[in-house]
Amino acid sequence: MTLANRPLENKIALVTGGGSGIGQAIAERLTADGATVAVNTRSGAGQAVADAIGGSFYQADLASMDATRALGQRVLADLGRVDILVNNAGYNHIAPVDEFPEDIFVEMLQVMTVAPFQLVKQVLPGMKERGWGRIINIASTHAIVASPNKSAYAAAKHGIVGFTKSLALEVGELGITANAICPAFVRTPMTERQIAFQIQATGLTEDEVIRTLMVGPSATKRMIQPDEVAALTAYLASDAARSITGTAQLIDAGWTAS
Ligand code: NAP
Repeated sequence: MTLANRPLENKIALVTGGGSGIGQAIAERLTADGATVAVNTRSGAGQAVADAIGGSFYQADLASMDATRALGQRVLADLGRVDILVNNAGYNHIAPVDEFPEDIFVEMLQVMTVAPFQLVKQVLPGMKERGWGRIINIASTHAIVASPNKSAYAAAKHGIVGFTKSLALEVGELGITANAICPAFVRTPMTERQIAFQIQATGLTEDEVIRTLMVGPSATKRMIQPDEVAALTAYLASDAARSITGTAQLIDAGWTAS
């Protein structure tokens, strides 16, 4: 294998939420590109992915500030460093604002905005010392536009993009880049759950839910596959992307073009 085939050789990556959907595809792709990958999930689900890719598994619930801090400490103690941090863990809760549970709103901001900040804070000193680092935050098209009943999700995802931009400006001269990726609907267990919810709530068929409620506003009229997000993540992690920083990269299938 040449460096061109394995552009992330000798890099160590941490992928949160790496046991399913987009995170699993990212863990697999970074491994294929030569990185050693630590997989985090809330449950034990990430163990099988870590075993399959020859990586290591770290169970931690990022809804807890203490558990998130401990995760960063454990990974750094075991692996010595993190060169590529992919903040991917996340979930959605759908409810109108006046019915939205306060504790779920706060938890979503913790998992998708505060936990990424905590992990960045821990890996940044080492990245600065080595003069190389990649921080990739999996946001969403809901970081750019919004939908009704997704207030906490939109708040968390808009927030992580703002954080990403500010971070990029702080570390730009030090060989460290920070970017967000903003996909529209990707076919994963998270969206399978949303499809099932909408079928029950609306009485529409699966095909009707996907066409009218999910891919309707897009140009391509198809759901995105996790490996498409993983491919952009791998590119942003590579040396070739050294001048791409502070961006919110849309993979929105043309959603926001109109
Ligand atoms: P998914 O298949 O449900 O996977 C989510 C992953 O995040 C799982 O590994 C899960 O671990 C982990 N996770 C959730 N809450 C966690 C917590 N409190 N602590 C630690 N890990 C936690 O979802 P996905 O669709 O791949 O989504 C991945 C990311 O992409 C999310 O940030 C999501 O917002 C974003 N995104 C998704 C789409 C889409 O259409 N699918 C579009 C745009 C952006 P467990 O399995 O152990 O719970």
